Amino acid sequence: MVLKNYMEDCVLDKLNELIPQYPGRCFCENCMIDIANLALNHLPPKYVSTEKGQVFARVECFSRQSEVEIVKQIAAAIEKVETHPRH
Ligand SMILES: [Zn+2]
Repeated sequence: MVLKNYMEDCVLDKLNELIPQYPGRCFCENCMIDIANLALNHLPPKYVSTEKGQVFARVECFSRQSEVEIVKQIAAAIEKVETHPRH
């Protein structure tokens, strides 16, 4: 059985979508991982183990309430990484 935190996909999807809104910021692999990491630490994990579960998790990820929270945490993470980049 494969257990997966679906929130990871939600955050990465949303992060890719948000990049054009932050011109001039660094989104290299290091920064992307740091941003995703920070955001994920502030979001509830969503574990799924079946394909059906994944479809459900995806729908739930993009419910209005979750989306607002995901965007909020990603924006906060982008600010933090900008202030303290690892390179
Ligand atoms: Zn970078």
